[in-house]
Amino acid sequence: MCGIVGYIGENQAAPFLLEGLARLEYRGYDSAGVAVYTDDGIEIAKSKGRLQVLSDQIHGGNDINGFMGIGHTRWATHGEPSDINAHPHASVSGKFAVVHNGIIENYIELKTKLEKHGYTFTSDTDTEVIAHMLEYYYKGDVLDAIIRIINRLEGSYALGILCADCPDRFFAVRKSSPLIVGLGRGENFIASDVAAILKHTRDIYYLEDNEIVELTSDGVKVYNKDKEEVPKEISKITWDIDAAEKGGYEHFMMKEIEEQPTALRNTISPRIKDGRIILDSVSLTKDDIKNIRKIYIVACGSAYHVGVVGKYVIERMCRIPVEVQVASEFRYCDPIVGSKDLVIAISQSGETADTLAALKEAKDHGARILSIVNVEGSAIAKASDDVIYTWAGPEIAVATTKAYSTQLAVIYLMAGYMSEKLGMLTSGEYKRFIDDLERLPDLVAEVLKNKENVQHLASMFYNCHSIFFIGRNLDYAVALEGSLKLKEISYIHSEAYAAGELKHGTISLIEDGTLVIALATGSGLFDKTVSNVKEVKARGAVVIGVSTTENPMTGIADHTITLPETTDVMLPSLTVIPLQLFGYYVASNKGCDIDKPKNLAKSVTVE
Ligand code: GLU
Repeated sequence: MCGIVGYIGENQAAPFLLEGLARLEYRGYDSAGVAVYTDDGIEIAKSKGRLQVLSDQIHGGNDINGFMGIGHTRWATHGEPSDINAHPHASVSGKFAVVHNGIIENYIELKTKLEKHGYTFTSDTDTEVIAHMLEYYYKGDVLDAIIRIINRLEGSYALGILCADCPDRFFAVRKSSPLIVGLGRGENFIASDVAAILKHTRDIYYLEDNEIVELTSDGVKVYNKDKEEVPKEISKITWDIDAAEKGGYEHFMMKEIEEQPTALRNTISPRIKDGRIILDSVSLTKDDIKNIRKIYIVACGSAYHVGVVGKYVIERMCRIPVEVQVASEFRYCDPIVGSKDLVIAISQSGETADTLAALKEAKDHGARILSIVNVEGSAIAKASDDVIYTWAGPEIAVATTKAYSTQLAVIYLMAGYMSEKLGMLTSGEYKRFIDDLERLPDLVAEVLKNKENVQHLASMFYNCHSIFFIGRNLDYAVALEGSLKLKEISYIHSEAYAAGELKHGTISLIEDGTLVIALATGSGLFDKTVSNVKEVKARGAVVIGVSTTENPMTGIADHTITLPETTDVMLPSLTVIPLQLFGYYVASNKGCDIDKPKNLAKSVTVE
């Protein structure tokens, strides 16, 4: 959500900042701005709308000369998207310029105090208090002023700070909002994520909460709140810049859909050795697993849908009760969670604020935390007892595809791992499970080969006003994701329903020509779902049936999508593929901005 970049070095800052912000565009934003230290002091340019508007305004950055600056793309939380509310924000005298990602929860109280001291506010943002507070506390040492303000700020923040008295250095600090430091030669950087600076360096410092960074062109110093220097370890980024570029695809989303076989292989292969699942990063012993009272899965959006699959899979394979909770609810439902429970937190970015808050709540109750995340060094990874990384590579499109698929693969790995430890599978069943898990990337590649069929169906139905997805059990879990994918990027209203539940109310919405996508891959429940298909067809629905070669929907549904066979619990990995493609092609037919759907942000770092 929103992006920050900062630069100091031998090159012009403004063009660098625009380029870095462009690489962060995928995170979602509504306005953009830069502040550059020039010969005439700090110069700020900002505007509502796309980054291109800002870039045109300052002619690609050429209008502003200076070798140090900070840039921002804003995803408005306090105050509408407007030129004035866009960041950077300056203090009254113009001595400080600040960019901020996050929310200052006590800003009203701070604003009232500052107003009493004569400070006037020009924007509606919470961020502006930071600029004025810096000025208020500044007595000649910026580090001291930063320490004073972070002791007073409540909420979340990643900050980039320029001070007019410091022509050769700028500052940054973070708490519960992502920010990394990039180390170059004769130049140094800050950024919300690696994609913004990977072209320039692979050497990164990950920051802990409330570590304060001072950047000059030849060095970076990191301090704690007591102003003591903190030794930092350099982390090397191993993935390539190509991974964060479109590579000939029209959209990142299609590139990422196509990357799924490789991403799955990266997630699964290193964790299967000599026919056994080895989870090096998981410290749960056989006894720990035996003693788990209950598993909670907490997550948001698509990751929550992975959790819904996870409930069915883990309960079926391990016979441990699993409760899946939307993270933003978990925290406030006074959860009955304790030291005998395992909490699994799932998040692509590892920075999802709701999931992080849920995880902390569970930790406070003594639960053990295992997280499934994609971004190394992220806040959720750091706050967990054990982490299983998905190793999906960077995911840029807002609508997740490969992160969802690899999270699902981790659920299978975990379910297989725990069920073996619990002695729930015969050696034959375990072998078959492992074989099918290893075969999964190839099966996904096979499903992807039939994309034209889905493309054709999307071209028939992209004008629909409402689309229903139905399925039972695991198919229901995938229906949730298929429906979300469609509405996220095509803006078509859609509902996902447990097929058997439709007749308890929702079926009244089915009328002549309503499209129902019926998932019936699970062999045990095929006939039951077919009955539900008949019910909706009798009321005029047009049905696309998704099932496997063993039970094709030919003659039952109006249109069919047929998937290869595999172990029942792994079918969601195949079923989701045509649904991702359907959402993509429908959105494409409608001319939607697929990679940057309206109102959405990639990494949701506010609660
Ligand atoms: N809360 C700040 C604002 O509304 C920052 C939003 C962001 O993270 O982009 O301006």
